[in-house]
Amino acid sequence: MSEISELKIKLAMSSRMLFNSGLVDYSGHISVRVPGSDHLLILPHPVSRATVVPDDMVVTDFEGKPIEGKYKAPSEVYMHARAYKARSDIQSVAHLHNHMVVTLSMVDKPFFPASSNPGAFFGPGALPKYMDPALIHTNEQGDAVATALGKADAVMLRGHGSMVVGQAIEWVFAACVDLEEAAARFYKASLLGVVLVYNEDETQRVMKGRRKDSVVQKIWDHNVAKTKLAGLMAGI
Ligand SMILES: [Zn+2]
Repeated sequence: MSEISELKIKLAMSSRMLFNSGLVDYSGHISVRVPGSDHLLILPHPVSRATVVPDDMVVTDFEGKPIEGKYKAPSEVYMHARAYKARSDIQSVAHLHNHMVVTLSMVDKPFFPASSNPGAFFGPGALPKYMDPALIHTNEQGDAVATALGKADAVMLRGHGSMVVGQAIEWVFAACVDLEEAAARFYKASLLGVVLVYNEDETQRVMKGRRKDSVVQKIWDHNVAKTKLAGLMAGI
């Protein structure tokens, strides 16, 4: 099987797994860099995230222009395209309208993911926030999101969602799961009192055990099994 075919399969699987985890609904998307090119593979605009198949994937360039595929790219493809343009180190990007992260993005208070173990995936410090609530429909807006992301692994989009980036589809999927879980815990803890954010040393020690292939693969495998049990992996 070709590398591109494998990437298309992983995109379809991760989309259905994100749906099964409640992290995407009728919108939200995940993409991957086409190795060795200025192109990306992404979910199509009109197909359900719960039923998408590998052959539905769309190819665009880093300006968001269509290159290949029977469907249109998502209207917010520019967020993905400009993240790849800005960050040669990232191979996969997800955009989610994830409920708990959006909730935290709506208040004037920093969100420190590293106050619970899943959040240590993102390292020390507050998650960056992109303040413009408009949808990302141009390259200029995509560039502005990439600037807000900086060197981080994720950025909150105020009142809108988040963008998560990483070195492979499996890593981005695991980061999406961890980010929402960290946000849910941070929100609940905030209602009870002052959150005990991990200090630099604590974050580094927890992060060392969290950010590794074996943990990412465990999160991936668990969600493959869970999504199969839900009957949502048919046809891949
Ligand atoms: Zn969006």
